[in-house]
Amino acid sequence: MRALVKAHAERGIWMQDVEQPSIGHNDVLIQVKRSAVCGTDIHIFQWDDWASSTIQVPTTIGHEFYGEIVECGGEVKGFAIGDRVSAEGHITCGVCRNCRAGRRHLCMNSLGVGVNRNGAFAEYVAVPAFNVFKLPPSITDDMAAILDPLGNATHTALSFDLVGEDVLITGAGPIGVMAVAIARYAGARHIVITDINDYRLDLARKMGATRALNVNTQSIDQTMADLGMEEGFDVGMEMSGNPSAFRDMLRTMHHGGKIAMLGIPPDEMSIDWTEVIFKGLVLKGVYGREMFETWYKMSSMLQSGLIIEPVITHHFAADEFQNAFELMESGQSGKIILHWD
Ligand code: NAD
Ligand code: ZN
Repeated sequence: MRALVKAHAERGIWMQDVEQPSIGHNDVLIQVKRSAVCGTDIHIFQWDDWASSTIQVPTTIGHEFYGEIVECGGEVKGFAIGDRVSAEGHITCGVCRNCRAGRRHLCMNSLGVGVNRNGAFAEYVAVPAFNVFKLPPSITDDMAAILDPLGNATHTALSFDLVGEDVLITGAGPIGVMAVAIARYAGARHIVITDINDYRLDLARKMGATRALNVNTQSIDQTMADLGMEEGFDVGMEMSGNPSAFRDMLRTMHHGGKIAMLGIPPDEMSIDWTEVIFKGLVLKGVYGREMFETWYKMSSMLQSGLIIEPVITHHFAADEFQNAFELMESGQSGKIILHWD
């Protein structure tokens, strides 16, 4: 089968003919229809420090996808050949304290599809049936392909009550942009989002941001004054991984504000901790998606008025992967879908 393989320990990604994965008793084999390129895939493509210390070559990459079940292991219950599915890309151990308590997203032994084992940028992918999410028919093919990052946005955005609140989102990457739509859906008042990329700020406006600011030329404080905000933001979602964006957030939060942190800083990050202490801020780290509450929440929201489509800006045939990766790397895109069928 065709698969996009990190085949060499250097910049790049290679389409190769590899063996179709075999499945165990508790696994399903999925024929991939569409997949989406994630920032993680770009790190692996670029072969940065994180990628070179994490990825074993050769590995088939990719974890955002949807497809159809073509084979079920002997012990698999609740799924059948022909089911239209996506899958949670974090494979948890099932035996640690958190797994046994149903807090699978806090598993200390979790492994990533397309990171620590072969992934979904391929004609077929094998995953444990436990990880599979059966798609309601009303979820479109494009939405089905991006449930993984929509789940990151959902997990982060729904961490704190948003009704009537003023929200600051730092970073208008695909996940920040989707978080705008969720905050709007959930009833926030003002949603201010920041970035340094005008293409992405435009996308954020389409998704319902009250204000989308380029922090190179516009000020958060002036925007707060323009909006009549006298006290600061109630909820922050850090989705850039950029230290100065996070410091701006801490400075403009209201006393008692709550911050959910998804963005991954490239290095250690220093902050003025007195902002956290004297304001009584609550900081919550967010990793992945809750299994499987986040999946149910996002699929229900998509069935009841949440509109995410504008975040998908480009489609490519899988064989045109090189163009897709370079475009994603340039920052002049939202989500990019690869078609495998
Ligand atoms: P992305 O890299 O596409 O988006 C980050 C955005 O931040 C970019 O558009 C960038 O221009 C912007 N940015 C850079 N400097 C900024 C500044 N000073 N102020 C405001 N914005 C600035 O990433 P994404 O795919 O949208 O993901 C968002 C973040 O979440 C990334 O850091 C990613 O690594 C991280 N992530 C974490 C998890 C998790 O489980 N914790 C999962 C997925 C992604
Ligand atoms: Zn575990």
